[in-house]
Order: sequence, then C-alpha cells, then structure tokens
Amino acid sequence: MAFAAFEATFGAVTIEIINTGSELLLGRILNTHQQWLCSRLTQAGYTVARQVLVSDRGEDIQQAVREGLSRADLVITTGGLGPTCDDITRERIAEMLGRTLVFDAAVSESIQAFFQSRGRPVPPRTRVEAMVPQGAIVVPNRQGTAPGLMIEASPNSFRAEGRRSWLVMLPGPPRELRPMFDQEVLPWMSREFPHETGFVCRTLKTAGIGESNMEELISAPLQHLTDGGMDLGFCARVGEVDVRFVARGADAASVVAEAEAITRRLAGDAVFGEQDEVLEGVVIRELTQRGQTLALAESCTGGHIAHRITNIPGASAAFLAGYVTYANAAKVRTLGVREESLREFGAVSEAVAREMAEGARRVSGADWALSVTGIAGPSGGTPDKPVGTVWMALAGPDGTEAVQRLNRFDRETFKFTTGQQALHLLFRQLKRPLRPDSSATGPA
Ligand code: ATP
Repeated sequence: MAFAAFEATFGAVTIEIINTGSELLLGRILNTHQQWLCSRLTQAGYTVARQVLVSDRGEDIQQAVREGLSRADLVITTGGLGPTCDDITRERIAEMLGRTLVFDAAVSESIQAFFQSRGRPVPPRTRVEAMVPQGAIVVPNRQGTAPGLMIEASPNSFRAEGRRSWLVMLPGPPRELRPMFDQEVLPWMSREFPHETGFVCRTLKTAGIGESNMEELISAPLQHLTDGGMDLGFCARVGEVDVRFVARGADAASVVAEAEAITRRLAGDAVFGEQDEVLEGVVIRELTQRGQTLALAESCTGGHIAHRITNIPGASAAFLAGYVTYANAAKVRTLGVREESLREFGAVSEAVAREMAEGARRVSGADWALSVTGIAGPSGGTPDKPVGTVWMALAGPDGTEAVQRLNRFDRETFKFTTGQQALHLLFRQLKRPLRPDSSATGPA
C-alpha cells in the first residue's frame, strides 16, 4: 500500500539522488544505494523526488548534477570518490561548480592513519582523495579512505532565482556509505532541513501472518488513527511483512505509540522486531539474555540458517553447533535418527524432523535445537509429499514440537522462507515467560 498522503505532505524539501557507476548500468551489481537511501530518508521524514543512475563518464555526471541542482534543495551523489582513474565525481563536480581542488592535510593524515593501522603502505594514488573542492565540508569516512563531501551551491546558477541547493557526495562501497549517511549526513540534515512539524515513522517486523491477513487483522481497529491522518503501510517481503505507521504533527508520537500497542496486542508473537531488525538477530538476542544456547540440524536448507545466525555479531554467545545432514546416512550417523523412521516415514516426515532436532540437542548439549527437512524441488516430489513440503521441529527444555509447511518457491526463496519459519518457531517459545526450572537439559 502506498503512502499517498505522505508524499503530498512532505513537499517542503526536494531531494534527488544520483547514483553513478558504469558497472551498475552493465548489470554487474545491483543499485542497493537507491533502495537503502530512499528507505533511510523516508524513515527520517523526507521524500525523494527523483533518482537517476548514470555512467562514470564526466559529462553524464555533470549533466545529471546540473539538472538535479536546477530542481532540488538537496542532491545526493553516490560513487566515484575513490582513487582509480574511473573515480572522477569529485573533479568533475568541482569543475562544474567552479571550485578549485585544495589539498586537505587533515584528510591526508586520516588516510595515512587508515593504512598504517592495517600495516599497509599508503598507495600514492590515494592523494587524490585528500583533494577537497574549495568551501566543501568534509565528511569523515571511518570505514575507508575517501571522505564524503558536502557543498553548498550558492549562488546556484542552475536554479531559478538563484535558490540555494546542497550537494552531498558519498562514496560507492555500501560499508562506507551507510555508516557515513547515518552518523554524519542524517544528523546534519535534521539541522539544515528541519521538519516544520513532528514526524514519527515506525516499522514493526512480523512473520507468520500474510500481508492481507495482517491488513484484515489491524485495519479496522486502527481506523480511528488512519482517519485522523496516520498512514498505515504494509510491505510484504520474503517470509515477513513490515507494518509501518507514519504520523506527523504535535501528537505524532502518541498516535504511533497507540497504533503500535494495538498491533502488538492483536498480532501477538507474529511481531518479532522493529525497524531494521532481522529474526535471527532477535533470536540470538533473546537466547543471550536468557543465557541459553541453540543448535541446528539442517537438511534442505543446507546450512542457510546457520549462515544467517553467524552473520549476527555476538552469535557465539548462544550458537553452539549446526549440523548439515543432507544424506540419510548423515542423519543416522551424526544425529542418531533411527533407520526405521527413515524407512517407514521417509526423510521428510514428522518423525525424522523430531529425531533430527532431539539428536542435535543431545549431541551438542544445547538448550534448544531446530531441525528442517524438506523437498526444495524442482524434482523429488510425490503426490503425498509435493515439492515444497517441509517438516521442521524444535526440541527444547519442555519437549519437542513439529510443524509442516508447504513452501513452493525457487530454491533460494525456499531456503530463506523455511529458515524464517523455523526461527519463528523458536522465537515464539522464547517470548513465553521463563520458568524457573526451564534450563534443565535433555528433551522431556
Ligand atoms: P572506491 O574507493 O572503492 O573506488 P568510490 O567512491 O569510487 O569507492 P565506486 O568506485 O563508484 O565508489 O564504487 C565502489 C564499489 O562500491 C563498486 O564496485 C560497488 O561494489 C559498490 N557500489 C557503488 N555504487 C553502488 C550502488 N549504487 N549500489 C551498490 N553498490 C555500489
């Protein structure tokens, strides 16, 4: 659902984004900056009016920036600030704005410190990264070498009546751009482009309920708030649905708080997190807070759940082991799954899912063990067990529960969705109040 009213309300600051990079136009990499920056700006209460992607050619960059400055209060460029010959954004924009490039000793020192701290010699080419257009504000890059740059185009000869515009140049690598934008650019924007009214945007992350069911569940109970001007949005992703509330005005915070409370009450443990949280991160946090541990027994997901878990910093506090038991023999040998269960019910069955989870819990000594076994396809299905059939089980201090799902997707989506369902099974248990004796080991 689009935020129709939202766009109309925030006409105040016109923002345009210019992504540069020939490799993006060649389709070699996905333009994630477009989505990420738009999402961050929206959450902060700004609307992006236009976004374009141009090549690394100087004329293309200059033309796009010139056009952007003729319309927008803020133009954000990404890429082309590095030391290689195709990184020409800084020079070409300085040339276009009539600013000379001046050597900045502080930037040069921070580049040297960056390489020294890694025990590497300073490449001579990085000197260009210390060249700053006259009058530009330098934005520190804590993850790399090329700093961001902010230039006030004043007077702005590209714009009617010489209205001022700002140009913000960000480096290309996402691991450099993202913290720089969050830590430096957004706080600067809130000072330079403050909202006239209060603005609150809040996203609840949910799993286990589809987009339409979620809408059906909460739309009517929230109607008094949407009638009053709050925007309610749903965004269906693989294995989860975002529910977003946007309100503005003096009572924005209380309106959104009320919407959140109603949604949490109605959706219960379908709500697993907020803003950008991921389910695996929430699960690791809950386990760590409880001082409990997890093991995984994966068949059809091939270690994908373990991969997601180990992407979370600090996962070692809770994650003990992951067993990828793809073949039946591995299920028997590693997890103690009974050969009779495999013969009688097949590898994709409730009995085997339970024995995998209980075996993983026993072998690892973890408090909880999740198992998944299924048919990812495209072949291997039967009338009884069509492609997409998955059994998953959770063995814990109070026993084992098993559920069946039908996930008919391509293999990658299948893995993510199955992992999401398994992690949500555990999340729901972790939301239950902790019993004093629930740290007892061994399945009940
Ligand atoms: P570097 O110092 O690495 O050269 P840079 O500021 O010059 O940084 P680019 O050379 O334009 O940036 O891009 C560097 C890398 O950053 C690209 O190869 C790509 O992997 C990533 N990147 C750039 N732009 C985007 C984008 N829009 N979306 C996703 N990744 C991007």
